[in-house]
Amino acid sequence: MNQALHQATNPIRSANGHRAEARSAIILIGDGMGAAHRFAGQLLLAGRRGRLIMDRLPVVGEMATLSADPASFVTDSAAAATAIATGIKTTNGAVSIDPSGRPRTTLLELAKRAGKSVGLVTTCQVTDATPAAFGAHVIHRSDQSEVARQYLHESGVDVILGGGAAWWLPEGAPDPFGSDDPRLQGRGTAGDLVADAAHLGYRQVSNAGDLVGAANDRGVARLLGLFAAQEMFEQAAEGEGGSYVPAVTLAEMTGAAVEILSRNPEGFFLMVEESAIDRMAHRNNAPLTLKGVLELDRAVQVALAYAEQDPETLVIVTADHETGGMAVAGSADAPYPYEPGGGLLDTLLAGEDGPFPVADEPFGFVVGWATTGHTAATVPLTATGPGAEALAGFYENTRLFEVVAESLGLVEARAMETAAARARG
Ligand SMILES: [Zn+2]
Repeated sequence: MNQALHQATNPIRSANGHRAEARSAIILIGDGMGAAHRFAGQLLLAGRRGRLIMDRLPVVGEMATLSADPASFVTDSAAAATAIATGIKTTNGAVSIDPSGRPRTTLLELAKRAGKSVGLVTTCQVTDATPAAFGAHVIHRSDQSEVARQYLHESGVDVILGGGAAWWLPEGAPDPFGSDDPRLQGRGTAGDLVADAAHLGYRQVSNAGDLVGAANDRGVARLLGLFAAQEMFEQAAEGEGGSYVPAVTLAEMTGAAVEILSRNPEGFFLMVEESAIDRMAHRNNAPLTLKGVLELDRAVQVALAYAEQDPETLVIVTADHETGGMAVAGSADAPYPYEPGGGLLDTLLAGEDGPFPVADEPFGFVVGWATTGHTAATVPLTATGPGAEALAGFYENTRLFEVVAESLGLVEARAMETAAARARG
């Protein structure tokens, strides 16, 4: 495409005049979702020849996830999300603070300063590490009330949807969802942030019906939806009380966020996280890990439906790291021939979960685990929309920041930030 034609078909300019390719960006993160998690989800839902919706995006990349921690090369979610949100690798546990202790500007903050609307959606506490790295700066991820305070008073996140109400309420406040479990009572250290949100004009919702009502009300520009006191699921090993039956699905939250954020003619930046993939993989609970993958896939469908209406939308699906060292193998009912392996003994030795049915096949598959922690594995990335082609191939997680900033025309905003920081000394 020649330059003139390119400009004619891409007339978007960011608020500071930098020519942008995309008006809006949606990053969907399956926390802990490695290649095997995606493939197992595919076998379950679409079979060996089918594809998850997230795997139908045209641009395919592979992303390295290691952090800059001096004690460990395996990342946690905070350092990984910091790399994606700021383009800087940091120590584990740090939330958009670099290894020398300086806060680093995030994609969400740059988008907000460029006049876009910004949102964070997750099935975990909405102040947990992954969303936190986009909208806050704290030395350690455990400081969740400070993260919530910064969402409201510093970064001005317009749409905030997920769990973790306990971190928004003062210490000892009753669980708004009625439990008397002390873990679900108020644990906040920054006052009554729910009251702060009301003063700042946020519409507040805590169930599916009110979420739809808020999304359909064109007067709503800021929305706080807290749907659980902590996670929107119960993480546990199989048979030990794990459950994933959220009051509102990730797809419903994504739809509401897109509906509200897209009313801004300057566009929006939205991060959507499915967190049960990681938390259930930590317990080696394959059924609920895979449910997490499928919940994320439905949210991807919502994002793509929006991008179809507004083609100036960059959509990216990836992970922050891999959890569990998951492997997919044939089940004992379908041994593969000609080599040792694949039979009953091997599936027993693998300590597998399953068998799970392979869609449209007479046999199943099993899932094996290497660890209950994170691994150093690379993670797949798929993308579509303006700027997505720069995400083909192999790269570090910091590249995601560069590509999204470039595509949204936030590069000059970043340069201005750096100059301002130098001027302040
Ligand atoms: Zn984890």
